[in-house]
Amino acid sequence: MSFWPHPYRAAVSLSFDDGMRSQLETALPALDAAGMRATFYLNPAGAEESAGLGDSWMERLARWQPAQARGHEMGNHSLLHPCSLNIDPPWLQGKNLRDWTLEQIMADVLEAQRRLMAAFPAQRETSYAYPCYEDAVGRGKNRVCYTPFIAGHFTAARHKSEVRGELANDPLVCDLHHLSSWPVERCDGATLVGLAEQAAWLGRWAIYTFHGISEGHLPVGASDFQELVDYLARRGDVWVAPVAEVGAYVRDRTA
Ligand SMILES: [Zn+2]
Repeated sequence: MSFWPHPYRAAVSLSFDDGMRSQLETALPALDAAGMRATFYLNPAGAEESAGLGDSWMERLARWQPAQARGHEMGNHSLLHPCSLNIDPPWLQGKNLRDWTLEQIMADVLEAQRRLMAAFPAQRETSYAYPCYEDAVGRGKNRVCYTPFIAGHFTAARHKSEVRGELANDPLVCDLHHLSSWPVERCDGATLVGLAEQAAWLGRWAIYTFHGISEGHLPVGASDFQELVDYLARRGDVWVAPVAEVGAYVRDRTA
């Protein structure tokens, strides 16, 4: 018997980071045409707060709201997108996780959540995506993982894994607040499909992380993305749903 709701044998969550323009203009129309719902991880910061992150979130909010009303999840990707990556470029000034405290990251994430709840009041379960896949603040002896805080406030949270099909989440044992996902930038359509195929065969929960669709520094080609959407639509036995929705199902089913 399958772990997943009938008639599904596996689950796939398609997630998109940083609220990029091509997600509104290319990914959303493709998903809506196929009747699929996804997760969009937003940074609800104003233009002056989000220097270096592109357009202001307020400019795009009017386009995210109807998407959420159609069942897409608007997830939390922090307010300022703090990370470290062991570098120190100008765009990380003042928001380098190496120099932050637990209190700072908690305040940042909670303020982002406050704004998201105000913008999308109908949304109940939400998930979090660690910016740059980093789950700790401080350095060396003072380095502290902030996953316990995230676990207290979100249905699920997305981390990363290697881009290999056998590493999709096993729903019976996965840490819902440190989920594996595949950073699939620069993968072609056949690779995207192959990953889903193996996860389906194993009965797992596959989470894809996309950034731009034919846009930006971590792109997936529009036709490659479409190939994955078409494949998932054709299969019919893979549950395609937002991260928080699948996470809530896993939580309740394994309780
Ligand atoms: Zn990001």
